[in-house]
Amino acid sequence: MDFLDIELLDCPVCNGPGLLEEENGWCMYVMCLDCGSQTAEIAFHSREERKAAAQSAADLWNMGKVVSPTPGS
Ligand SMILES: [Zn+2]
Repeated sequence: MDFLDIELLDCPVCNGPGLLEEENGWCMYVMCLDCGSQTAEIAFHSREERKAAAQSAADLWNMGKVVSPTPGS
């Protein structure tokens, strides 16, 4: 991975570790390894957009804009 310069905060839901994931080469998102919360998927279409998508996903995560798999709990 070439996103070592992108900083991820702890999970806004459970304070678990966040992981930047690439989905089949078309989008980026961040998900929590503990509770499974994740950001929206940010699509990209080129190598340049890939980096921007990774940063956008990280920004969403760091702002706490995540979807929990167990809403209301
Ligand atoms: Zn979590």
